[in-house]
Amino acid sequence: MTQQHIVVVGAGPVGVIASLACAQRGFKVTLCEAESGVDESPRAATTHCSTLEMIANVGLIDRFVSEGLVARYFQFWDQGKRERVAQFDHDILKDETAYPFVVQTEQHKLAYMGIDALRAMPDVSVRFDTRVLDISQTDTQVTVNVQGPDGVETLHADYVVGADGARSTLRKALGIEFEGITWPEKFIVLTVLDDFEQMMGCCYRNYLADPDAWTNLFKISGDDGKGRWRAVFPSGADETDEMALSDEAAHRRLQHVCPTDKAYDLVHRNIYRVHQRVAATFRQGRVFLAGDSAHVNNPIGGLGLNSGIHDAMELATMFAEVRDGADTAVFDRYNRRRRDLNIEFVQQQTVANKKRLEEKDPEKRAAALDQIRQTAEDPVRAKQFLMRSSLIDSVRKAQAIV
Ligand SMILES: Cc1cc2nc3c(=O)[nH]c(=O)nc-3n(C[C@H](O)[C@H](O)[C@H](O)COP(=O)(O)OP(=O)(O)OC[C@H]3O[C@@H](n4cnc5c(N)ncnc54)[C@H](O)[C@@H]3O)c2cc1C
Repeated sequence: MTQQHIVVVGAGPVGVIASLACAQRGFKVTLCEAESGVDESPRAATTHCSTLEMIANVGLIDRFVSEGLVARYFQFWDQGKRERVAQFDHDILKDETAYPFVVQTEQHKLAYMGIDALRAMPDVSVRFDTRVLDISQTDTQVTVNVQGPDGVETLHADYVVGADGARSTLRKALGIEFEGITWPEKFIVLTVLDDFEQMMGCCYRNYLADPDAWTNLFKISGDDGKGRWRAVFPSGADETDEMALSDEAAHRRLQHVCPTDKAYDLVHRNIYRVHQRVAATFRQGRVFLAGDSAHVNNPIGGLGLNSGIHDAMELATMFAEVRDGADTAVFDRYNRRRRDLNIEFVQQQTVANKKRLEEKDPEKRAAALDQIRQTAEDPVRAKQFLMRSSLIDSVRKAQAIV
């Protein structure tokens, strides 16, 4: 049988893992990335148990854990009172997963380790500076035109994976709607060298509720492995990007989280627009969307990239099933498994997480925090909560969808 060829568009973490999983299943893979290198800007880091199992499946788990931080706990705080409300312990999942914890490893590290593995494999081509321009397909083949360092070239593939991010060229070329909303506020990301664990006694992942300025606070290891903290905040209603990123605003926000006599050691700042959107379909013929090209959400709960890696693994498994004799009807299952479950698990949870942290009504706010406290204190409910938040439930539900 001739070896089937898969073109993957985008060397973000989802495209890299899709490429690796396909190559490991014996496909010829061409990974095309428009930029000259991997995007190293501070983005996702939180990797849940269910996704760690997949990273183990592609053989990267040891390096992934060694380049990140293991976070067994996460906490909810009442920011106004500077009081810890609840703590969840992933160890309660030890009978459900080989990885009963979260690992905080920056997404560019995952992309690099995946690319290293790809470069050691036969029949794999990793091409940077190669932008996909357009796409067309028949019942048996997909044709992609790419602009590479030597000009425009035409590639032919059995399947194409569009892992080309939220502004996906492929999704737009296929005329697929990106349905949903854009939040009015932007999200500000500040990275500091100060140690919040030492200063306020929090753990490596923390959600701080506040009616005006909720915060996500988490630790990452950094490229130097020395550790740093990222704090994520909503921008104010009339705040421009310039105002939000000013020294004054950055320090005011950080001081609100934890007042200190000295200035914070701020090493990076960023602001970005946040959406809750899902593509109307994740599949058109032989072209499949995965990761941010298929779905985007707010980062509270750290679910977006995890869900994208789940897409990547599902695609590789499905391509192999069809190559090995399954009916192409399984292609429709991709939508049922990945699109429907993204809405049920990722969109719903991230919207609920955001509402819980920003609730303005004092009574509703107290009730929401009380509920999370009670959930954490009851082992049965705490386990149910973690099974859902770590996407283990989503993976099991997907397996039951045929
Ligand atoms: C500023 C920012 C901060 C974020 N912070 C968090 C966070 O704290 N927590 C969290 O969970 N999530 C966060 N996210 C979301 C998270 O980063 C994404 O879910 C993740 O990057 C999705 O990975 P991906 O591989 O699908 O897409 P991307 O990482 O966006 O990768 C897409 C790749 O495709 C390439 N590409 C685009 N068009 C083409 C083309 N035509 N041809 C070839 N290549 C192309 C791009 O150059 C890019 O490398 C953040 C996102 C942003 C933008």
